[in-house]
Amino acid sequence: MRFYELGSVPYGTSRYKGEYSAERPWHLPGLHCPTCDISWGGISEAYPSVDLSGLPEAKQLKTARLEEDYGRFERLRAMVRPLVPAWARLTPGTGFGPLVGSARGTFPQLYILYSWRVIIHRDALEQLQAEGLRGLKGCRTGLRFRQRNAPELMELEVESHGLFHPDCLPPGNTEPCKTCGGYSFDLPKQRLLDKASLPEHVDVFQLRNCPGFIIITERFVDTLRRLGFEEFSLQELPVR
Ligand SMILES: [Zn+2]
Repeated sequence: MRFYELGSVPYGTSRYKGEYSAERPWHLPGLHCPTCDISWGGISEAYPSVDLSGLPEAKQLKTARLEEDYGRFERLRAMVRPLVPAWARLTPGTGFGPLVGSARGTFPQLYILYSWRVIIHRDALEQLQAEGLRGLKGCRTGLRFRQRNAPELMELEVESHGLFHPDCLPPGNTEPCKTCGGYSFDLPKQRLLDKASLPEHVDVFQLRNCPGFIIITERFVDTLRRLGFEEFSLQELPVR
């Protein structure tokens, strides 16, 4: 099986002129880690299907902020843990709940923003699911259009599996921080996937040690091409 990085077309070249402005209802705080001394606050990990409104402490997760107290961060993370899938990393800044906001214009069937957020038309998602692709969990968004013929946009909740191979990472910097779990290596130029870490039960996933990468299988690629999906980029990543 071959694996590909899924991306968007170069900025400014799309024939679709859609845009949206949206936020999620809840986030874990960012964290200044006492061990690795890095301030983390990424938004690349998100669970659009997870509803935190039943948590008494949900108010503390409403506003984005940077937590300096690791114990407090860990308590919030432990509280959320039972509500997310077992593979979730729950890195600082992780978002929960649907994207809510406004949108306008037109979007391709599959729209990748920031390299990790995958927005998909409902009918496109159903087409891909009907083809038997695995790991396609579509979540409703709260994106409101003020136009006729507005598409129904869903968001994919992409599972987190698979690693860059240590051979393509800077020596001695391949393990996550023991306290916060963050990976602090620079993006490798020659990217290589670690075969033993790759999932066999899904056709799309986000790398655990570099969540900015959406990886799809050859089966997924063949399906996109066969169905004539437009406007995505692919780069094959070698596996060792
Ligand atoms: Zn750390």
